[in-house]
Amino acid sequence: MTGDQGASEQSSALRQPAEQPIAAQQPATIDQSAIDGLAARLSPGALTTDPDIVAAHARDEALFCPHEGAIALVRAASVDDVAEVMRFATANRVPVVPQGARSGISGGANGSQGAILLNVSRMNQVVAVNEAERLVTVQPGIINQDLKNHLAPYGLSYPPDPGSVALSSIGGNIATNAGGLCCVKYGVTRDYVRSLRVVLADGTVTTLGPQTAKGVAGLDLRHLFIGSEGTLGIIVEATLRLVPALPDPLTAVATFPDERTGLQTVADFMAAGGVPSLLEFLDASSLSMLNEFGDFGLDAEAGSMLIMQVDENPFDSQSTMEMFAEVAQRCGALDVAYSDDPADSAALVAARRMIQPAYERFAHAHGGGQLLDDVCLPRMAMPEFCDRLNELRSRSGLTIALVAHAGDGNTHPSVFFDASDADETAKAQEVFGDIMRAGLELGGTITGEHGIGYLKREWLSEELDAGAQRIQLAVKTALDPLGILNPGKMFARVQPSARP
Ligand SMILES: Cc1cc2nc3c(=O)[nH]c(=O)nc-3n(C[C@H](O)[C@H](O)[C@H](O)COP(=O)(O)OP(=O)(O)OC[C@H]3O[C@@H](n4cnc5c(N)ncnc54)[C@H](O)[C@@H]3O)c2cc1C
Repeated sequence: MTGDQGASEQSSALRQPAEQPIAAQQPATIDQSAIDGLAARLSPGALTTDPDIVAAHARDEALFCPHEGAIALVRAASVDDVAEVMRFATANRVPVVPQGARSGISGGANGSQGAILLNVSRMNQVVAVNEAERLVTVQPGIINQDLKNHLAPYGLSYPPDPGSVALSSIGGNIATNAGGLCCVKYGVTRDYVRSLRVVLADGTVTTLGPQTAKGVAGLDLRHLFIGSEGTLGIIVEATLRLVPALPDPLTAVATFPDERTGLQTVADFMAAGGVPSLLEFLDASSLSMLNEFGDFGLDAEAGSMLIMQVDENPFDSQSTMEMFAEVAQRCGALDVAYSDDPADSAALVAARRMIQPAYERFAHAHGGGQLLDDVCLPRMAMPEFCDRLNELRSRSGLTIALVAHAGDGNTHPSVFFDASDADETAKAQEVFGDIMRAGLELGGTITGEHGIGYLKREWLSEELDAGAQRIQLAVKTALDPLGILNPGKMFARVQPSARP
């Protein structure tokens, strides 16, 4: 938040960025022969300047984020390709935009003026599975679900499961510290990264973090790269911690007359010591949009719904179920039902994963606009956040639907609007900002898992205090002195001269 923690610690090292602000460097003009020379040093066919192909790879899933101006696309096939691109970029001061599967929703993988799009999707192999140490080493482009499928025969699991599990890459997951549905029990991507191999801005290839369970040799640079959104270097290999295959869960579904009682149930259940392996919230608008999208058999009359799973041993699972039912009923649940049939559980989770296509269908029928937010809150603040959303709905007249990885307070309000109507579009953008402001006022963060990218760059300095902003810029400057790594994104509005 905009507090002053650490703001008085103005060491000269931290002040340095004020004197040397990281501006996005003016890209030098690159002539075709230099590009041809780079292409010749890369894997055959890795580089293209075909404008249609470059344009087709120049954006992720976010709205309102510019993506024009890239001069080339490199589909790297090896670490050498990545290092070669970075050496070229440093020598010629060319911006580079790292890309995984481009499923991001903050514009982080979008092209920018004069940039090379450096896509690592082709580097998608499992390098090694170490069953004894429960580790896997992968290239960055592997899709999360493909990794899960690869590990299943070993009886091992890589838990992080973003809603985009079938779309997004492990490199992108690491670069955004992706969360997901099971994080309430199993943690986020950060909790599974043992070691990273990265290519720095000047082409240096280095390994960050030991593969051992513990390690405190030097500063923890590996964690700096997790969630760095392509602004510090390119992740070219990762060694990840695994767990034994996750057991089949028991599933409970509770419906409520309104949103507040559903969210109060989450807060009370977690405060009472509940340990769910999944706890998802859907409001009435989301249920209605899902029912419009497919035959999921969801209660169309409910004001909100919780899906809760638990995967402890049978005795503990049963008592957690009973505790959940008791808390839900005390909060005013309309109905609570259980199932221990894995098919029922899978169907419910599959329905939850269909929420974004259902939203897209609704948006398509109502003018095409959807802004998806990502405010993470203390769980106890979620009912009040819900009141704030109701105020915004009344004031703006816009549809705002809410789903949440509620067990860890991570809400995803979606604002729908007619994208062909300039006034309504402006209103939706304002509401999008108001949602983040409400999150900050309630002790939350503007992004729980989607990242800053371009979409939220104006807001980072609202959340970080002056000291934190100076540290962020000092780190960025140390690792990317020319400002060539993903310029114009995360740090673009952080204040080098921020003062307490
Ligand atoms: C339907 C849907 C559901 C989603 N659900 C979730 C969810 O539940 N939880 C969640 O956290 N996110 C979710 N997302 C957002 C998105 O999928 C994640 O942010 C994901 O981690 C992005 O991975 P990617 O491979 O697509 O990365 P990209 O979109 O290609 O890139 C994302 C960022 O990482 C950087 N980057 C990518 N690869 C590298 C690399 N190898 N080295 C350095 N930087 C790199 C890029 O520059 C960019 O800044 C969802 C998206 C969609 C479309």
